[in-house]
Parts: sequence; C-alpha cells; structure tokens
Amino acid sequence: LKTSKINWTQVRHHLHANPELAFKEKKTALYISELLQKLPGISLVTNLGKTGILATLDSGGKGNTILFRAELDALPLKESNNLTYRSKVAGISHLCGHDGHMAILLATVEKLSLSPPKKGKIHFIFQPAEETGQGALAILNDPKFKDIEINSTFALHNLPGYPLGQIVLRNGIFNACVRSMIIKLEGKTAHAAQPQLGINPAVAISHIISGIDKFTQSDESSENFALVVPIYVQMGEKTYGTSAGHGEVHFTLRTWTEKKLDQLAQSLTEMVERISNRESLKCTIEWTESFTSIINDDEQIDLVKQAAQSCGLPFLYADRPFTWGEDFGHFTSKFGGAFFGIGAGIDQSPLHHPEYQFSDELIEKGASVFEALARLQLNQS
Ligand SMILES: [Zn+2]
Ligand SMILES: [Zn+2]
Repeated sequence: LKTSKINWTQVRHHLHANPELAFKEKKTALYISELLQKLPGISLVTNLGKTGILATLDSGGKGNTILFRAELDALPLKESNNLTYRSKVAGISHLCGHDGHMAILLATVEKLSLSPPKKGKIHFIFQPAEETGQGALAILNDPKFKDIEINSTFALHNLPGYPLGQIVLRNGIFNACVRSMIIKLEGKTAHAAQPQLGINPAVAISHIISGIDKFTQSDESSENFALVVPIYVQMGEKTYGTSAGHGEVHFTLRTWTEKKLDQLAQSLTEMVERISNRESLKCTIEWTESFTSIINDDEQIDLVKQAAQSCGLPFLYADRPFTWGEDFGHFTSKFGGAFFGIGAGIDQSPLHHPEYQFSDELIEKGASVFEALARLQLNQS
C-alpha cells in the first residue's frame, strides 16, 4: 500500500503564510510545481493563463478526460487571528480559504498518482485570479490550453455556516451572475465662490445612488432577484476653494441569470445617462469583474453525491442558489460539470471576514471526495 509522504497541513500553512494577490501568484505557483514534481506520473504545464499550472495524470487507457480546479490567489485584506502561520505579507491574506483548496487539490493529485485509474485522463488546474473574476478566462484563452478536450469539470468551495465536511449540492444554477459598474462623471471645476460657472456632479451622484432602489429585488427566492450595491464613491478634491468638477460611482450587480443581468445593466445605464444629461455632465460607463453563474449538470451532481456517500460525508441540497460570484462558471459553461460546497463549520466566520479560518480537517475530507469522484467518473467511461 502506497501512503502519503507529504504533510498537506504543513503545506497549507506555508501557503497561508505566503499569500499573493491575483495574477501575482508566482511564488505560490513555484512552490506547488515543486511539490507536483515529487509525485509519480504527473506532467506539468506552467505559466498557464499567466501564473497558473496544469498538472496531468494520464492513465494511458482510453476513456473520459476530467478536470479539477483550485484557486491560487489571496485577498487584499488583513486577517485578525493569532495563528502561528499567519500571513507574513502586510495587508494580504487567504481569507477565502484558497490555501485550503490548493492543499485539497494537491492531496487529491497525490492519492490518484499513487494509485492511478486504469483508463482516462485527469487534469488538475491551479488557477490564478479567481477573486477578480479574470483567472478562469485567462486559462481558457491560453493557447497552451485551447485544444484540450474535456468531458466534465469539478471544483469545490468551503462554506462557513454549514457543518464541517458537509457536502452542499445543487442541481442547475449554483450561484449568481455578477458584474461591476464604474460610472465616471465629467463636469467642470469652478471657484467655490462661483459654483454656477462650473458643473458639479454632486446632485447627479446622489440621484444615481438613490435611483438604484427601484431596480433592487432582494428576495433571493424570486427569479427576478436583483441586487445593486454601492461599492465606491468619489468626487472632487480636498481643495476647499474649488467646486468639484468630476466624480465616480461604482456598483456591483447580482442576478440569477445572464439575461436578467443584461436587462439590469441596460436599465441602470439608461438611468445614469438620463441623470447626467439633465445635469450637463459627460458620463462614461465601464464594466469590470464579470462572473457568470455556475450551471451544474444533474448527472455530475449525482456523482458528487455518490462520492460524498462513499466517503461517509453527510450531504444536503441547497434550496436556492448562492449570491456570491465564482469564475468557475466559465469552465462549466464550456465543458459542463459540477461545483459543490464543503461545510467549513457552523460557527465559522464568513468568507472574506478578518476572523475567517480554514479548518485543516477539510483537506482530507475534500481530497477523498475529489478522489472518489474521479474514480466514479472515469469508471463510467
Ligand atoms: Zn473569495
Ligand atoms: Zn474563494
């Protein structure tokens, strides 16, 4: 019997102590590549989608090809804890648990490489820049990845608020479509004693912010669910003799479908243009950090359920989609597959919260589900 030679908890702690932001995950990627090179039968492609890694385990036998993904990036946030392995980088930390997801995927590669399936092929993606919504597309558009054929793709996310290790499943739409809106208003500065000679954006900004209310439908059980949340506002300079001449308002939009998101974006654009015209402001609108929903295949979710059962892990079906964005939707929309949650503990602080902590117990639980899933999937073909 071949057993693990690597302590994945220590690996997770090393990753946690050395976080890097989106598309800057160079040391993280190097550390992971070095670990992957110690595992038998794994071939590697590095610098995929800038800083990503593709590790492949090919059984040599004819069969399906499947893909698993973990994320490399940390957040521009400061953590609040007394961990011995806390972040060594000021203002950056793994408050989404991506350090844990990397450890889970590495442990999965090890399990499968020590006892490889008889048929099919498994790709393991370590993806950059999930938090900014750019990494999945960077991988998918990389010429080194373009011609790869894949039958289905899988990923997980730890979920605070659910019992530790509980598998959270959902058929169909798993989470929200998200897009962020940057509105720039250009007026004209003037002496603060003669504001009538300038064009000050303050009134327009206040009308735009109060105007989003009528587009919001916060009932998550409704198919018309729509959230518009103010993220950032700026105008003028701190020069008290000058009436402001420019301003910015940023919002983040969420709906359950792309169609609803397009309609919401259109309505907001019309409102912003109407208000800026009325105030004689020049307005430009840019869109950023676009995440599409993950749509789970019923058949693949069923396999995840079977995998959870075979590992003795409890599972439940979530009764509505989650409101957060996740760029794995780009993988499922291209190749199909399934995304699922793994409970991070009932009393755990939420993701991105300064006190959030990833529980090391999830490494073995997550890796066994992924392993079981791979074996179930490849045995089907
Ligand atoms: Zn996150
Ligand atoms: Zn995350």
